[in-house]
Amino acid sequence: MGRRRSREAVTLRLTPMPELPEVETIANGVNRRIRGDSIVSVWFSNYKEPFRTPPAAMAETLAGLRVGRFYRVGKHIVADLTAKSSRAVRAQWIVHLGMTGRLLVSKPEVPMPRHTHASLRLASGRELRFVDPRRFGRLELNTGAPFTGPGREPLTISPDDFVALFRGRKLAIKAALLNQSLLQGVGNIYADESLFRAKIRPTRRAGRLPREWLDLLRRALRTVLQAAIRAGGSSVSDYVDADGEAGFFQIQHCVYGREGLPCRVCGTPIRRIVLAGRGTHFCPHCQT
Ligand SMILES: [Zn+2]
Repeated sequence: MGRRRSREAVTLRLTPMPELPEVETIANGVNRRIRGDSIVSVWFSNYKEPFRTPPAAMAETLAGLRVGRFYRVGKHIVADLTAKSSRAVRAQWIVHLGMTGRLLVSKPEVPMPRHTHASLRLASGRELRFVDPRRFGRLELNTGAPFTGPGREPLTISPDDFVALFRGRKLAIKAALLNQSLLQGVGNIYADESLFRAKIRPTRRAGRLPREWLDLLRRALRTVLQAAIRAGGSSVSDYVDADGEAGFFQIQHCVYGREGLPCRVCGTPIRRIVLAGRGTHFCPHCQT
């Protein structure tokens, strides 16, 4: 019965835009499949947009390294790469999925999907492919200090640090949640959903929110993100092992994308405004 609960909450979204839960699900799915495998050779497309590190330099470093692990940092997927005989991290391969990027673990006989920009051939015979139709995704090699991302992690930040993030901020709390140098990985959907669950208007000034409200918000964020990660885990095979066309899972939304529909708590029509350039959804009755 435990499995059905998450299945029922999952639907496929046709206009994907990966946020923290999707990135974490893909990172975990890839990690389970290819951790310990080694990169034999590398192929890159001729497009220049996806490459923050020149492809030739990236290929030269990647070939021959072993995959220590794949994990999520903010909205980035990071691969720690080691020499075959050592555990010391030699380099990190950093993947940002952008709007439509995917990582696929494929058998070599599966034709490369259109819009494939990278294919890493592995010692096991499989290929790790980066597919991205809209080319907002980015690939980068890091040989310096371990990558930590621009902001703090919403799932692990302490209550005190969370409150401190917003102190003195004049911008709206919704805009603050989207600011990746404050919290990393929170996008439009989970910002709206967590503010609804914390009963906070998205337009409230971040720096004026009482500590109790921010505590509620921190917990609401963690709850919605973890629910989405659980939902994704049950359907991860649909996109890590698929042909790159599947949409992303999503949990049932309370406000996001529900303009004019009745609030699930009080029945008041959900309102949509534009805030910080993004469609913002809230219940004018429940959120004050
Ligand atoms: Zn309501």
